[in-house]
Amino acid sequence: MRYQRDAIASPCPVCGHGQGQVLYRRSAEEAAQHFVLREVQPERHARLTAAIARLWNGAEVALVECTGCGFVHAEPHVGGDMEFYTLAYERTTYPADKWEFRRSVEAIASDPKLRAIGLENVRVLELGAGMGNFTRMLVAAGLKPANITCTDYSEFGRQEIAKLGATALAKDYSALTPGDLPGPIHVACLFQVLEHLDRPHAVLAKFAELGTPDVKVLAAVPSDTRMAFNELNGSLLDMPPNHVGRYTKKAFEALAERGGWRLDALEYEPEGPAPKLKQFVKYRYLREMQESGTLANRVERMSASPVKIALRAGLGLAYTAAHASAAVKLATAGQLGNSQWVQLSRR
Ligand SMILES: [Zn+2]
Repeated sequence: MRYQRDAIASPCPVCGHGQGQVLYRRSAEEAAQHFVLREVQPERHARLTAAIARLWNGAEVALVECTGCGFVHAEPHVGGDMEFYTLAYERTTYPADKWEFRRSVEAIASDPKLRAIGLENVRVLELGAGMGNFTRMLVAAGLKPANITCTDYSEFGRQEIAKLGATALAKDYSALTPGDLPGPIHVACLFQVLEHLDRPHAVLAKFAELGTPDVKVLAAVPSDTRMAFNELNGSLLDMPPNHVGRYTKKAFEALAERGGWRLDALEYEPEGPAPKLKQFVKYRYLREMQESGTLANRVERMSASPVKIALRAGLGLAYTAAHASAAVKLATAGQLGNSQWVQLSRR
């Protein structure tokens, strides 16, 4: 795909700049096809299309890149709701170990102010904590489970977090109050969450409200450069209303600046060639699968069998071979890791 880059007047939800460029547009039906194939589950696809059309008030979506800070925002700028996520995803998997988890534990354990408080006294809030995989690492690093508060919509996830002794709430961040916490938080964490939320300034304001005067935010979002690479090289699109914001360094600086924060650090994941290529092969297949008439789309209509598994693998490799130069570029580039990590503190 190539980006259209048509000029558009569209206020940036992060920096407030009024001008942007449309990268591409999609109808609700096209967006639904990214999550659920009409050829495989026609009824669910139709319900998802209706749910997305309702979120967008009938309009198509435009991905707009702000010419001020580079933030890519979905317009209409509306995140997915419970109905969207229930229809779009059958189940969510949570990796036990992620680079951003390790990077964040390291940042907490080495912070002079937090060390002075004593790690066992550090209070952490994590939004969208999944099955508590980060909480488990915090506890291993010396934090007390009673000082860790998590939110997640998954009941199974909350049960897993409760088993660790931490608090797990089903609340939206906007509904959190000081009464939900064991005390003002020293650290707020959100990993692969911010890009789903449509009011990023409100998220940071909530952390300021619930935190100590020098509360820190540790966050990870998809890498902007990797997302653009994927879209321009036959891999998956960054499809709203799942993701509604793509952050750049300038966007994080603007986000911090407007809310009284400071961007202390931004790092890209140093991802090796093997996981990058594995994802590229998988995403090449998933992208082709969304097109009616492709072999992958026909394979997806087959019932589960070893032949289907073999065809998926073979086609993924064949589709990758057709984009061999992109695959080589991805594998050898130093700056195309999947994730970017930031630390913000109060000014
Ligand atoms: Zn902007």
